Amino acid sequence: MGLLGGKSTAWADSAAERLASIKEQPLQLRQFLQQMPKGGDLHNHLSGAVYAESYLRWAAEDGKCIDPSGVISLPPCEPGGEVQAVREIFAGMTPNGGIESLVDALSVRNYSRREVSGHDQFFATFERFTAATFGRRGDMVAEVSSRAASQNILYLELMQSLGMFEVAAFAQTNGDLEAKYGQRIDHAAVDAIVADVILEMDRIDARRRAIQGCDSIAAEQGDGCQVTVRYLSQVIRTLSPIQVYAQTLLAFKLVAADDRVVGLNFVAPEDHAVALRDYKQHMDFIAEISSQFPAQRSGVTLHAGELTLGLVPPEHLGWHIDAAIQVAGAKRIGHGIDIAYALDMDALLRNMATQQILVEINLTSNDVILEVTDEDHPLPVYLKYGVPVALSTDDEGVSRIDLTHEYQRAVTTYDLDYEVLRGMSRNALQYSFLPGKGLFQDTLSGQVVDACSAATLGAEAVSGGCAEFLVDNPKGSLQWQLEARLAEFESGF
Ligand SMILES: [Zn+2]
Repeated sequence: MGLLGGKSTAWADSAAERLASIKEQPLQLRQFLQQMPKGGDLHNHLSGAVYAESYLRWAAEDGKCIDPSGVISLPPCEPGGEVQAVREIFAGMTPNGGIESLVDALSVRNYSRREVSGHDQFFATFERFTAATFGRRGDMVAEVSSRAASQNILYLELMQSLGMFEVAAFAQTNGDLEAKYGQRIDHAAVDAIVADVILEMDRIDARRRAIQGCDSIAAEQGDGCQVTVRYLSQVIRTLSPIQVYAQTLLAFKLVAADDRVVGLNFVAPEDHAVALRDYKQHMDFIAEISSQFPAQRSGVTLHAGELTLGLVPPEHLGWHIDAAIQVAGAKRIGHGIDIAYALDMDALLRNMATQQILVEINLTSNDVILEVTDEDHPLPVYLKYGVPVALSTDDEGVSRIDLTHEYQRAVTTYDLDYEVLRGMSRNALQYSFLPGKGLFQDTLSGQVVDACSAATLGAEAVSGGCAEFLVDNPKGSLQWQLEARLAEFESGF
């Protein structure tokens, strides 16, 4: 390691000392973690990432309506009736009354004072704000990417459902699960939906760029422009089998058709009766369809094991993670909470470490939805076995958090040191579905690929084999940027 490399190691030690000295001081810790470069957020549902206040403001501007339970709907509203125009509510706001109860209805704010469980409140919010998302997806991406920029996050893999309801509706009347592959659903019809989704993504990008000023001269650009955004297609696992099948096909076709879509995930409550009933079949769907998409099959991440004893009967516990990896070929697992119920947890963990299956860790979400916290959470076990992990938000708007909050929660709950945190930050790019080769052989120690072992990590001038490694390598290049930001951050202590 050259002189600069030696210096950057010393800088990292200073950052580590700083973190160790402020772990018990929440305000200083927040500042440290807010400024610390965080590679990305790999488990972030776009509609759940937006704060309720934004949905209400947009609904007011768009002439949408809302009922007293917080369900937003398209106009016409009922003047004088139950379904009021959101605009009227804003117009009538007084110092003593406004949108407070609606914000609670559209999030888990104050949920502990409600009569419903965190689980039910959490999932109920989505159908309440769905209508507010219509026509506002560009605004949503702008909000979430600007928030990421303000926390020094470089990359977002946002889950969204573009085209999914259209293909599900088509499949319900035109699909046949008993037919052979290629004949279960009209592929030309699915391709037409792919084309529509690509146009919609163009519109979303244009709106985001306009809001953030990304096409103006550099000095006027919003910081959010610098955040790289990619999408994961969401398959809704509570729909009928033919609909889930069609959505899975659409997801793979989207990954193949457009660079902005880098993978897919199965979403909606894993403990839902239909999701439980069809889990095995869903894994088979992914295995079958992905075999037709060999270049896209590495983009599979699945919510698996977001379950606890009591929430579901024992027979549903302990095997979803393994099936997601072994049958569906998932490269990442969302949540992975029920691992202790595996027939052989030790073997499963070793296998995940060997195969480098990353677990997307969502601490606040697991607390609210599953009531799994502290030593009941598997994060320390994953770390102990060397299973790669990255912290993510799941639904930062619904949960009223941000990624920095999750880093802080991890540090405070599990007494993590700087090296581990930095490893998680790096993992969020190393295990992203961006195309290209990963920079690291080991994100924890910082050991890089041979081609770059002589280079100073993050340096502006790169030559030789490392330059060759980074060229036409979106993943490696973004990782290089993260290293530059880490060096800058660490040099400040
Ligand atoms: Zn999720």
